[in-house]
Amino acid sequence: MAEHARVCRCCRESLPEHYVNILCTVCSPWNDPNELIRLSMPAWQNYLQQHQQDLIDESRKWLQGEHRIVGAIPYNAGWAELLRQITGNMQISCSDVQLDEHRDYPAYLQIREIMAGRKSNLFPNLEGQDSGKGEIEVQFNGHQIRTSRLGLIVDGARVERGPGTLLFMMMLERRADSVVLRFLDLLHQIEGTVNSSRAEIETDRREALRGGHFSLVGAADAPQPESKRMNTIPAPLCDWSHDTYLLGTEFGARGRFVMPLPTQPSLLERFLRIWGGRPSMLVSDRLRALTRNLTKLIGIKAEDARITPLERSFSLFRSIVDANSDKIKKLDGALFIDGPSGVTWRVKPGRGAHNVPYLIQTTSKNRIAFGQPVCMYDDSNLPLGDRLASVVLGLLNDNILRTQFEQIHFAILMHEQRNPHLQRQFR
Ligand SMILES: [Zn+2]
Repeated sequence: MAEHARVCRCCRESLPEHYVNILCTVCSPWNDPNELIRLSMPAWQNYLQQHQQDLIDESRKWLQGEHRIVGAIPYNAGWAELLRQITGNMQISCSDVQLDEHRDYPAYLQIREIMAGRKSNLFPNLEGQDSGKGEIEVQFNGHQIRTSRLGLIVDGARVERGPGTLLFMMMLERRADSVVLRFLDLLHQIEGTVNSSRAEIETDRREALRGGHFSLVGAADAPQPESKRMNTIPAPLCDWSHDTYLLGTEFGARGRFVMPLPTQPSLLERFLRIWGGRPSMLVSDRLRALTRNLTKLIGIKAEDARITPLERSFSLFRSIVDANSDKIKKLDGALFIDGPSGVTWRVKPGRGAHNVPYLIQTTSKNRIAFGQPVCMYDDSNLPLGDRLASVVLGLLNDNILRTQFEQIHFAILMHEQRNPHLQRQFR
């Protein structure tokens, strides 16, 4: 986690030196800086501070008398003690299983070195070297692990994001269920995609991004919805390091802090169950108030942590724009995207068809004349950055897109009629 470089208030990627705005050039056309200050706070923290101030005060006082717990967090022993105290369940414990004491530790190190070298999301912010020998396969505590570009295939199932070391820790705990399912289940709980149809939306979104299509229907760029009585507790949105999730909290002028959660899988799962309202809402409320105060006391300053759905979505959007800088130009708050069909598309903020918050138009060679805005349905339930990411990915593959969307095909035809030379030099 970098704390020196200035980061964009939205995507949390670094800003160029001597750049005065608080938003990067990718995020700035799409976000109102004032609105963003409100949106920067995770939904659970927002709720807590607005409706449960007494609980915050109470837990602050409680922590003042618990130096031992404060001193032992964020280590597993400290978390276990905290969870015992607030639930009264003395069975909660943490094991002393260590990765580096295991006979297969060298296999873990080998994987980690390669994946860190490839900048995999499983081992973020670590230095490593990809030996360049292609993919490798190892055995770890009876599990079969293969590297596959930026992801890992564990016992035949693919994983691409989340704390990679935690995944190996799971392979040390003898359990009947699949390691990957358990790992993904944790990820979904952390990202708040486990309830309702969010999980399906997530799957759809991945499908959509993979095929370069638009996803169906949709609207909100707001954080997780809050229910009135907190029947569903907003997920503890987290960034992650290689060994665990980092719970983020926003303290306005003091900045953004993260707290590493337990690195032991079963203890982390216990933490999330309690957070999610089991055994009771009261215990869950106390855990959230205590975690907020602990983070304020001993959290790690991390301005680049992404802790809201909006930030994550814009981080994805910016990574796509940055990775395709040869085909995407930023100009006057708009993106100009060169599609393989020969059309340059302009995407800019505006009220588009079906109330989408952007306009998609074909542009003439001199970028002065624009075609009719193309009408496009997308998933308005997704954060704005996700929607923009799928629009941009789609237009980068407009030759495929035109076979699926009549409107796109028609816009390309119209464009070719106005620019007859394009038809012959079809790329
Ligand atoms: Zn940004």
